[in-house]
Amino acid sequence: MRVVMLAPPGAGKGTQGERIASRYGVPHIASGDIFRQEVASGSPLGNRLRDYLEAGDLVPDELVLQLMTERIIAAARDDGGYVLDGFPRTLPQAEAAAEIARQAGVSAQAVLYLEASDEVLMQRISGRGQGRADDSEQVARHRLEVYHKNTQPLIDYFTGRGIVVRIDAARTIDEVSQEIFSVLDPINKG
Ligand code: ADP
Repeated sequence: MRVVMLAPPGAGKGTQGERIASRYGVPHIASGDIFRQEVASGSPLGNRLRDYLEAGDLVPDELVLQLMTERIIAAARDDGGYVLDGFPRTLPQAEAAAEIARQAGVSAQAVLYLEASDEVLMQRISGRGQGRADDSEQVARHRLEVYHKNTQPLIDYFTGRGIVVRIDAARTIDEVSQEIFSVLDPINKG
């Protein structure tokens, strides 16, 4: 099972990504989690990432690829797939991801596009209180703008490949999971 989740902040990609990963037995590879761990480790690379994360700006593609490429190749090779959450997020990343997939001989089977209005997303982010530093109202608004500008265009890129599935993410967690599973179960059975 090889799935890409394309969704704005607050749409629930972390939660749904976990559920998909456990249902199909593949790793949940979440770029934001990986970057936050790197920051927390205090490594030089983590220190370079910190300012981008705090500002809600995109990490430069080169650094993103440095942290993501090997993990994705290893998951495809050793674990039979992956749920990519938060990557790719720009057109150059999508092109690099396609090249990785081509080399590994595996490409994504589905791109889940979780949709909700900015209003719903802002409400969820302000209500979740996980204490993420980038969840303040101002930074969250900026993350949404960055999403609309840089990430939403990827929908067209993937739609051209015929693998985009639109999911209404403004419903309950269980309703969204049910719909996702109803799409992915047949793909999983092949
Ligand atoms: P959200 O989708 O709620 O913004 P994430 O955990 O996916 O949360 O991402 C948090 C931050 O990590 C982003 O604001 C950005 O700074 C950085 N980030 C994550 N994935 C990428 C990516 N693929 N490219 C660039 N920056 C990224």
